[in-house]
Amino acid sequence: MNRSALPQTVTRPMVLVIEDEAALVTLLRYNLEREGFAVTEARDGEEALLLAREHKPDLVLLDWMLPHVSGIEVCRQLRRLPDTRSVPIIMLTARGEDADKVRGLDSGADDYMTKPFSPSELVARLRAHLRRARPEFTAEQLAYDDLEMDLVAHRVRRAGRDVHLGPTEFRLLRYLMEHPARVFSREQLLDAVWGRDIYIEPRTVDVHIRRLRKAINNGAKGDLIRTVRAAGYSLDREG
Ligand code: CA
Repeated sequence: MNRSALPQTVTRPMVLVIEDEAALVTLLRYNLEREGFAVTEARDGEEALLLAREHKPDLVLLDWMLPHVSGIEVCRQLRRLPDTRSVPIIMLTARGEDADKVRGLDSGADDYMTKPFSPSELVARLRAHLRRARPEFTAEQLAYDDLEMDLVAHRVRRAGRDVHLGPTEFRLLRYLMEHPARVFSREQLLDAVWGRDIYIEPRTVDVHIRRLRKAINNGAKGDLIRTVRAAGYSLDREG
């Protein structure tokens, strides 16, 4: 399987912020990161289109007034890229006229906010769009077979019994529970759970899988992690 076909992040939705005003970018980054989003910023449309291909954002915040290429044009171009064709785009503008709003929505934007706006309202709208477009990010509970994960309380239970996991095993299990019955190679798990920017021996995955398997199988019936020879691992009830 192609490495680039993997999701960029397991837990944090990525917002691409396209805005040339540095103070506003700082404010947006501060508020979004505090609310659990990952942020990538672009100062103009050209950079935005490059970053959109590279990072495959889950949401786009797009300023109307940008240098070189207008926000409207950037919006049209994002809609033509396969990776951003259906990503929610929220336009930010200093203009408050209805005609502009219509033009923004006509160019493919999903929503529209007029500056100055309240960061908490912006976050609420982002969450609403994310819930529709990418429900897996806003799930509060995951379940597979007799295994349950509560993402809010950060708790795992199997057949009603608490399972205690370290932070890496928790993230690993979360990823597997988000993609049940799919086989992942060690490299794919490294990219998805540890991030692609750090180098870790693929064998490290085996160590954490062993710990995870021991923790979730302890006193329970059946092994929920399947080892696929020469391929990798999946969350799957055997037999
Ligand atoms: Ca601007």
